[in-house]
Amino acid sequence: MILGINPSSPQCSRAACGDDAVASVVWRNPKIHAPDRRKVWLACAEHVTYLRDFLASRGFPVTIVDGLSDGTDVTLEETS
Ligand SMILES: [Zn+2]
Repeated sequence: MILGINPSSPQCSRAACGDDAVASVVWRNPKIHAPDRRKVWLACAEHVTYLRDFLASRGFPVTIVDGLSDGTDVTLEETS
């Protein structure tokens, strides 16, 4: 990972990480997103829990999907 960005290798969404993504953190913000809207952050193995907790602490429904996903047809765990 010397040169950083490699478009063929999706990377962790955590700022300043840059490791290859191994999971998708699928979420939405109930205040601004429709119920069928999906946002996706990619995460390396180290940061998947960090990113999930970051979103969950804000009350956002969030689900972890192994591998890379665009969020389509992912069921979110609605909190409330
Ligand atoms: Zn990471």
